[in-house]
Amino acid sequence: MSPKPAGAATRRCHLISEGRPSMTGPVSVGDAWATTNPTLCQGVLMALVQAELLRDALRAQTDQENPILRYEEAALGPFNETLRFWERNRLAEIYTRIRGGRFYGSAGWTTAKALEAATPADPEVLTAMGDIGSMLVSPEEALASPGVVGRAMSVGADAPATGLRRAELVGTITR
Ligand SMILES: Cc1cc2nc3c(=O)[nH]c(=O)nc-3n(C[C@H](O)[C@H](O)[C@H](O)COP(=O)(O)OP(=O)(O)OC[C@H]3O[C@@H](n4cnc5c(N)ncnc54)[C@H](O)[C@@H]3O)c2cc1C
Repeated sequence: MSPKPAGAATRRCHLISEGRPSMTGPVSVGDAWATTNPTLCQGVLMALVQAELLRDALRAQTDQENPILRYEEAALGPFNETLRFWERNRLAEIYTRIRGGRFYGSAGWTTAKALEAATPADPEVLTAMGDIGSMLVSPEEALASPGVVGRAMSVGADAPATGLRRAELVGTITR
């Protein structure tokens, strides 16, 4: 029996349906709201930021407005979408390489790879990626800063690899 390939870990539980909470009482934060891929080390941060967002929504509560809707609207959807995009493409890339192929992906994935490669090489890209990783600004906002994506595309192609290549890793652990 062959081992089951690792699958997606980034999943979101939607408790809002047609603009209304599907149940009253429970509110989800942390992994109950969405799980993230552990390799990105963002789960605890996401839970803490959500706790703050929920606190703010409850403090701003009015009789006319459901605080849970306010919280859900603020609750990090764009970050979750970005993490899902990254994970989906990274898994496809890994399994394509295991089969000996080369994964190309979309233009968005090419940009993501360039940003990743340019992060250790360019201070502006590093700042933008740090802001996203720390959840200080949304991915859209950080990448809209003038020149960030352009710099990544020009620097990223020539930046040295920061990790082991697959053959090097396999060679190291099977030595
Ligand atoms: C291998 C791995 C590595 C990770 N590395 C990182 C990292 O480096 N950085 C990072 O930020 N995040 C990391 N994460 C993610 C992070 O651990 C989670 O996102 C975070 O713990 C979520 O917190 P939480 O409070 O939502 O859930 P949890 O930490 O899972 O807390 C839920 C608690 O509820 C309890 N519970 C469950 N059911 C019941 C019940 N019926 N009654 C009473 N109690 C119950 C559980 O026992 C548990 O103590 C990693 C996750 C994994 C799996």
